[in-house]
Formats: sequence, C-alpha cells, structure tokens
Amino acid sequence: MSEGLITALRSIVGSSNVFVEAADCAAYEEDWRGRYKGRALCVVRPGSTAEVSAVVTACVAARVAMVPQGGNTGLVGGSVPHENGDEVVISLVRLNRVRAVDPDNNTITVEAGCTLADVQTAAAGRGRLFPLSLASEGTCRIGGNLASNAGGVQVLRYGNARELTLGLEVVLPDGRIWDGLRGLRKDNTGYDLKQLFIGSEGTLGIITAAVLKLFAPQVARVVAWVALPDAESAIVLLGHLRQRLGERISAFEIVCAAAYELVLKHFPEARPPLAEAAPWYALIELADSDAAADLNPVLEDVLGEAFEQGLVSDATLAVNETQAKALWQLRESISDAQKKEGISIKHDVSVPVSRIPEFLQRADAALNAAFPGVRIVAFGHAGDGNLHYNPSMPEGDANSAFIDRTPEVNRLVHDIVASLGGSISAEHGLGQLKREEIKRYKSSIELEMMRRIKQAFDPDGVMNPGKLID
Ligand code: FAD
Ligand code: ZN
Repeated sequence: MSEGLITALRSIVGSSNVFVEAADCAAYEEDWRGRYKGRALCVVRPGSTAEVSAVVTACVAARVAMVPQGGNTGLVGGSVPHENGDEVVISLVRLNRVRAVDPDNNTITVEAGCTLADVQTAAAGRGRLFPLSLASEGTCRIGGNLASNAGGVQVLRYGNARELTLGLEVVLPDGRIWDGLRGLRKDNTGYDLKQLFIGSEGTLGIITAAVLKLFAPQVARVVAWVALPDAESAIVLLGHLRQRLGERISAFEIVCAAAYELVLKHFPEARPPLAEAAPWYALIELADSDAAADLNPVLEDVLGEAFEQGLVSDATLAVNETQAKALWQLRESISDAQKKEGISIKHDVSVPVSRIPEFLQRADAALNAAFPGVRIVAFGHAGDGNLHYNPSMPEGDANSAFIDRTPEVNRLVHDIVASLGGSISAEHGLGQLKREEIKRYKSSIELEMMRRIKQAFDPDGVMNPGKLID
C-alpha cells in the first residue's frame, strides 16, 4: 500500500522531493524544542498549489493521514508526525513565491512557504511594512504563522496573524482547492471562512497562499528600558501611555527580575542598562511613520510623571539604533537564557490586561506554597495580556523532581488563569501539548462546535489527526 502511494507521490512532485530515508526525514520528524519526535511514512515537498492538491488527493485515495509543515518552529508539537510511521509530512517549503504586491491596496500575496522574514523584506522593498514579528522569523513560514495564528511583539499595535490576513488559498482535506485570495477590507457575504483556517493548526486543510495587509513603515522610533517596583505599576504605566500616545505604542513588554538576571548570567556581553536592579522592568517602544515625529519628549514626559507617582524607579531611553537593539536583545534573549539554564515548565497564558497583577500575585503565592524555593521566570507581551510564565527549581536534582510534577503545576497555574477569564494558550496553540488540557477549560458546547467544524471539513480525520482536538 505505502509503496504504491510513494510511487504516486514521486510522479507528482519528482523523486527528489519525496524523502523516505531516515536521515532525510529526521529534520521533519522532530520539533524545534526536541520534545516531540515522530516517524513519517515519507516527507513530500510539493512545489505548487496544484501539486499540493494532487498530493492530498493521492493520500486520501490511499487512506493515509497528512501532517502539514512549514518552518517546524511551533512549540506545541503540531507540525511533527506521530510515532507509528503511518503519516505523510507535507512540507510547504518549496511554495515560496511572492505572487504580487499591491501598494495602493496595501496588500501582498504570498505563498505559504515564504519565510516570515522574506515577506517582511518583500514588503520593505516596496516601501511598506508587514508588521508580524517573531524571534523565529528567519525560519518560520507564513503558512505556519497563519495556521498557528502567530502573535509576537507587535500585536499591541497591529494585531496577530488573524488580523493581518485578508484572503487565503487552501487545499481542502479532499484535495479540492478553495481560492479565497481576496484583498478586501470589507466583505459581508456570509461566514468568514478564512478565519476558520487561521489558528486551525493544519487540522482543516493546507494553506497554500495568503493575501496579507501592509502598512506604512515606521521611520521614527524610540525604545526605553524602565525599572518598576511591581507589576501593578507596569499596568498603570501602560494605561498612561495609551492615553497619551494611542497607536504610537508599538510594544510594551515586561520582564521580571529573575528573567533579567538569567540573561545577564548566560550572556555576559549583555550590559545592564540601569545602575540598580529592580523587581520588574518594561521595554517600551514607540514608533511613528512620520520621520519628523520627535517621540522622545513625549515619552520622557510620561515617564517623568510616572516617576513622581512612584510607578517608575528609573529609566533609560536608547539614543541610537545600536542601543535600541541592545535593549531588545535583553528581552529576546530570555528564552535562550532559560534554555541554557535548564528545563522549566512553560506556560503561555493570557488574561485581561487589567488582571495581570492579580494573576501574578495568585500564581506566585500558590506555587511558592506548594513548591517552596521555586524560581519563577515571568515575562511577555503585557500589552496583550500575554505572559510566558515559566517556573523551575534553581538546583538540578530538585528541578528533575519538580519537572516530574508538571501536571500538578499546570493545573495550579491554568486554574487561576481560567478563574480570571484567561486562556491557557495565548499564542502557541494546542497541538499535542495542550490537546487534553484544553478539555478542562473549554465548555462542552464550545468543544462540540469545534468537533462539528472538524467533522464538516475533514470527516475522515486525515488532516493532522490527534492535534488540537480529537
Ligand atoms: P510549523 O511549526 O511548521 O507548524 C505549526 C502548525 O501549523 C502545525 O500544526 C502545522 O501542522 C501547521 N501548519 C504549518 N504550515 C501549514 C500550512 N501551510 N497549512 C496548514 N497548516 C500548517 N509564536 C508566537 O505566536 N509568538 C512568538 O513570539 C513566537 N516566538 C517564537 C520564538 C522562537 C525562537 C520559536 C522557535 C518559536 C516561536 N513561536 C512564537 C512559535 C510559533 O508558533 C512559530 O514560530 C510560527 O508561527 C510557526 O511557524 P512554522 O512555519 O514554523 O510552523
Ligand atoms: Zn511570546
């Protein structure tokens, strides 16, 4: 059976684009964190939408399940096959053309296998900004960004992948092609089908191309690193900034002392931007498309008032692009510093912005009570209510025992998130990692609606089974 399928796939995409040898398949079978390792029947790399359609049709005829894959940087095990070796991984990397840029409509039409960085560059080449921005942008692919509704550091201003997408082209689980590549900002002609595929983690079909929104480039910017006495002050400061600066705030990230210290420990070249340590820090970025806009005085003014109110204990504004990059580097090195330090239990949660302090206070207290000595590394996109909340034990042996208790730790953190009206997956999705956990937090009616949608699009369960929902 599988020999017949492999022969059919070779005839569609050419032998050099069907991998069956273990060494060729390995990179497509394991996730970025090395947490999930599966086995593929084969890896197939179609080069056009028509080839994706033919590949899907061949797999359906052979009753073989498929796993769509982009850059394979997802953090929840959604893009790798299960262990039994009976799924075909469909890699979109060869669908990497920019099909069109329409500067007057402020849109770009790209194929799913373009890296996010390629899309940003193509937009910049026509004097426009594509604002989606993630640390993985050189590797992740636009199809994967949309399938996981990626967020990142500019959501506060521009929204996540969902808000940046106007149209999609999708190969359905039966092999048919849906051409929904519309570049419209207004279209009230029934259900918004593209939104079903965005964030569906490859369970409803394969995204092959998209029409994305473009914006004016940000030519004036200022970046500040601010010391704060507590998380409450961060949220009050964010409110003041929003009142004064509105849309010009493009990022508001917070970093706890433990996260900051790990960066200084593992990246000795990183320079502490302020003389004294503080319990919390905020990285603030303001940006404007008017080159003449002088953002420094306004920011200095807001920070000065915040200082007088005791919300801010110290602050520094980058005076040039090198300093701005260095401040961003502190924020973006946290994940790597944590990786170097050792394993931790990761949470990617969101709550209403106003409830971030309450979440931190309750979760910290509950973890400290249950696991004395726990070290909590909390940081993230406070402007979006999204925190990465990663506890571990500072000592190796104690940490192994702590990691063994992951289900208890998750339960404790996620129950608090749920009681605050939050979400247990703000930006990484469910994949394999949270597929079971989500059943505790979504109502049965919501789970039923999701299952019905899955059933409607993929009645035979061939599209990325066992991910997101079962
Ligand atoms: P993959 O990992 O290949 O796939 C992700 C999911 O989408 C899988 O379920 C897969 O089956 C499905 N899929 C992939 N392509 C398609 C397609 N064409 N059609 C249908 N389904 C498809 N995420 C954030 O949201 N914000 C961040 O700030 C962020 N930072 C990150 C930093 C690092 C260093 C890393 C490694 C990851 C980060 N992520 C972040 C995770 C994020 O989900 C991915 O980087 C990115 O969005 C996934 O794109 P990908 O092409 O690698 O997708
Ligand atoms: Zn993030």
